Amino acid sequence: MITRFSVAVTTSIARRLTRHLRRADGQEDCVFVLWRPSTGSRRTTALIVDLVLPEDGDRIVHGTVDFTSEYFLRAADIAAERDCGLAFIHAHPRGRRWQRLNDIDYAAEASFAAQTITLTGLPLVGMTFAGADARYGARVWQRHAPRTYVPTEAENVRVVGDRFTVTFNDTLIPPPEATNRQVRTLSAWGQGAQIDLARLHVGVVGTGSVGMLVVEALARTGLQNLSFFDFDTVEYLNLDRLLHATDRDVRLHRAKVDIAARAAQRATTAAKIYITKYETSVVEPEGFAAAADCDLLFSCVDRPWPRAALNLLAYAHLIPVVDGGISVDARGGRLRGAEWRAHVAAPGRACLECLGQYDPAHVSVERDGLLDDPAYIKGLSVDHPLRRKENVFIFSASAAAAQLNQFLTMVTAPSGIADTGAHLYHLTTGTVDQRLEGCDAGCPYDGQLRALGDHTPVSVTGPHRAAEAARVTRRREAHRWSTRLRRVVEDGLSNYR
Ligand SMILES: [Zn+2]
Ligand SMILES: [Zn+2]
Repeated sequence: MITRFSVAVTTSIARRLTRHLRRADGQEDCVFVLWRPSTGSRRTTALIVDLVLPEDGDRIVHGTVDFTSEYFLRAADIAAERDCGLAFIHAHPRGRRWQRLNDIDYAAEASFAAQTITLTGLPLVGMTFAGADARYGARVWQRHAPRTYVPTEAENVRVVGDRFTVTFNDTLIPPPEATNRQVRTLSAWGQGAQIDLARLHVGVVGTGSVGMLVVEALARTGLQNLSFFDFDTVEYLNLDRLLHATDRDVRLHRAKVDIAARAAQRATTAAKIYITKYETSVVEPEGFAAAADCDLLFSCVDRPWPRAALNLLAYAHLIPVVDGGISVDARGGRLRGAEWRAHVAAPGRACLECLGQYDPAHVSVERDGLLDDPAYIKGLSVDHPLRRKENVFIFSASAAAAQLNQFLTMVTAPSGIADTGAHLYHLTTGTVDQRLEGCDAGCPYDGQLRALGDHTPVSVTGPHRAAEAARVTRRREAHRWSTRLRRVVEDGLSNYR
């Protein structure tokens, strides 16, 4: 049974839907669409994959909209054939934002909910299109008792592509309370943008030098639902780049996600903040499923395997991934140059593989555990991308700022522009290269894999030895500390006896 539900659709399909559902005569219209499931650890998303447009005589438009059983059966047939579920969308021409289900719509959708699941094997998804602002409300019809189908309301509907527009169900995720701590933020983009921005569930994958800066910015901006993913422990060599980390954190073997959660709790300007910590990699099954619960992901990792997993989440599961990276040229121990990148992986935009952010050949090398094998690393040439580790706080700050700007542009579309392409910044020349084209021809990510969700034929998750080892060490250290602490307390008490 689905308890938490969401719908995601690409901007290109959303445009086709708007063209069809906005009738010149102002009447209501309807359409059947196909969907595939994307199952996260707590939430299920219906990914809208195609339209089954009505043909002449399929609809009866008379103030409210009705359709013939031929149209329904034809659409259900196509859905079953393509291994998809069926969703029904009807329009409220003058509606705005989230449209709730009224009594007439309830009865209409309930009348074919049972038949839909029988014909397609998947529950009926109902959606209402708000004609005035092209937003959606949605629900999924599930069987609660014999011949009794009840709608479970979605928490949001996400339109993903050049722009990222999320419409929230105010009943399930209420707009944030106004606080006196966001006066300047609101003066920049207004209350309307803030209530959408603050409710996004954002995952930060990798809470190292770049990720920690992203966490700080998101918490200050008032985002109230954040998930952090990192299996690493804070070490002395992190201290010159890791915001908020202290000597004491290193001595206590604290997890980086613990530092991130502590920082977000302190920095938040929201009245309430929900933080979930995952001491896992996104390539571990649990981490991947939890990442699929997010509306948007920040990729602050520097390894090929997690990047490949995030690339799959961006295209197969329609979760935009704001990625970046830093490359420092310090041959011979002198700073010769530095570059950092920032871009968003999402349908219609170039993917991380096409941008050269990882080499697919290196993914299998990492899966075999070789990147954590000192002998393998030593065998690589000195300037091999897998070997170069130079980085400084200042470049991390630049990369984090560039990623945050990509995020803000995609969500708020300043002056109507949501996509400024992929950026490559050069320190030595002070210039920026821009790539506006999408994926290379033949790329599977923004091709066959798009919106496949749970039906994706490739598996990118697996056991991660370094992550497992880090967690074991932390548990052992925590145990050692608690034993020592108990001994100190007991010794202290015995002095008084
Ligand atoms: Zn209606
Ligand atoms: Zn690509």
